[in-house]
Amino acid sequence: MTALPPGSVIGILGSGQLGRMLAIAAARLGLQTHTYSDTSGPAFDVSYKHTLGPYDDTQRISAWANEVDVVTYEFENVPLQAAAAAAALKPVRPGARALEAAQDRLAEKTFIDRLGIPLAPFAAVNSKADLEAAIEKIGTPGILKTRRFGYDGKGQARMARPDQAQWALDEIGNAPAILEGFVKFECEVSVIVARGLDGATQFYDIPLNTHVDGILATSTVPGPLPPNQVDRARDIARRIADELDYVGILTVELFYAGEDAGSPLVVNEIAPRVHNSGHWTIDACASCQFDNHIRAIAGWPIAPTTRHSDAEMTNLIGHAANDWPELARETSTCIHLYGKRDARPGRKMGHVTRLKPLTT
Ligand code: AMP
Repeated sequence: MTALPPGSVIGILGSGQLGRMLAIAAARLGLQTHTYSDTSGPAFDVSYKHTLGPYDDTQRISAWANEVDVVTYEFENVPLQAAAAAAALKPVRPGARALEAAQDRLAEKTFIDRLGIPLAPFAAVNSKADLEAAIEKIGTPGILKTRRFGYDGKGQARMARPDQAQWALDEIGNAPAILEGFVKFECEVSVIVARGLDGATQFYDIPLNTHVDGILATSTVPGPLPPNQVDRARDIARRIADELDYVGILTVELFYAGEDAGSPLVVNEIAPRVHNSGHWTIDACASCQFDNHIRAIAGWPIAPTTRHSDAEMTNLIGHAANDWPELARETSTCIHLYGKRDARPGRKMGHVTRLKPLTT
């Protein structure tokens, strides 16, 4: 295994806040970043170099890939042709299989199901007849979700009754979809695993995640899972990562339905990237998710994921970021602002992490 030496260039597809925090982590390790994106995002501010270009321009992607040593991505909707054009020239980590599995909810669920890992019941929906058959099989309540480009609860219609089928299809614009049975969960958690080029894995502590309007609001550690469920949750993430021969940070979002449920842990979705529910690791761990993603893709050993503090991460969504003067006066609060100018509703503008002495 050859580790990239300091001075090497990490190519990042995407220019959002995740790319920004990856670029900052790379800089700490003496690595440079060259970001490629179709929009000028917050990662550009902190990258050594950036290229503005469409993701379907494989010639531009190839020219960019020629200038970097390894390629990674900060969002899962990178077109597969772009990843393939880059992979023809440089290693792409995590690889195309992880992208394929995460881009399409049907492919994702089918892949996880084949591994024997519990999921909400699901069925493919391409028409009203499919949806009616799916309701027959799965029942209501359920959630109709677009197969592609859904995030933060977008592209979803919650159905309480079978007679809402037409409404739900209209709501998601009649896009190819899946119907998912509604999981009665106690809470939502996420496993963040770092897997190195050598296949070694390390896990961060599993946070409790709360959402408002489908968008992550807070992540808190220590989380609620009892130790036996922590082991099971980690085992689920390890199996998924091993199956994908994964390199980097992988996130598995899970519903916890309680100790007495038939399936206490049910996978919601996977993200082949660093994740919002792991932002607390920047301030509460010696090596954060961004450091370990960069280390993994650069062929360095994964660093310990040990947590030195309890932590609560709160997202600053939309106008919440205007409270920065008050937050700045809370001088022990760790403030992370992404440098976005326009505080649109629902837009992730930054986050804060509040640390407390370690309890467990
Ligand atoms: P997603 O974009 O699929 O992560 O969904 C956004 C949020 O909707 C999740 O974080 C859950 O709070 C909720 N949700 C999604 N799928 C289900 C489900 N099958 N059962 C219950 N709640 C769900």
